[in-house]
Amino acid sequence: MFARLGLPKEVTDPARIRQEYKRIALEVHPDKCALAEATKAFQLLSEAFDVLYDRESQKDYLNGLGAAPVVRKNKKRKQWWDQRSWAEIERELRKKEEEEIKLRKAFIQNRSTQFQDRKLLNVLQKALSVCRILDERNQVADNMLWKGIISDSSSIEEKSALVGIEDPKQRLEDCIGYLRQNYFHCVFCGTSYNDEKDLNKNCPGAFEADH
Ligand SMILES: [Zn+2]
Repeated sequence: MFARLGLPKEVTDPARIRQEYKRIALEVHPDKCALAEATKAFQLLSEAFDVLYDRESQKDYLNGLGAAPVVRKNKKRKQWWDQRSWAEIERELRKKEEEEIKLRKAFIQNRSTQFQDRKLLNVLQKALSVCRILDERNQVADNMLWKGIISDSSSIEEKSALVGIEDPKQRLEDCIGYLRQNYFHCVFCGTSYNDEKDLNKNCPGAFEADH
């Protein structure tokens, strides 16, 4: 199947599959080629494209190579490439490309959300640790902000406790507010100011974006 597209027998970027398909199809599509064999050639090419057009189906195909060939049912079913004009084939290819771009966007979006979450938890851990240290220095024995989450020594349990916080963003905001109000401390400046005036004058703002 890969050979029909002129490609080596290995998992290949779907964009490359589509590109090669289009390149060869332009030569053998009955609209483009008057030879009697054109229809058959286009059919074989399109079959290969159908089997290989995404990574999952490529893997299925490569894994099944050693196995007995699957008997194709629905032989009579009309295939998407049957008796279509070149304009329709092009439209079909564009549709597939758009689907692929949508999938890729969703994938990138998901990855960046995960990254944001990790970053938020790191800042939250830092803020809660500072909060506990300052509380203890000021004889505040426990505080709902960090109680049960930040133990004396930083340990692995903290991470899992952090992940269990229902609304980490809210907790971070609460902690930032608490530190500023009670200790004139800014998590992002990484320092405690002398008083409210000093804090307001020298810290650019309560949010990370201000820094
Ligand atoms: Zn600051």
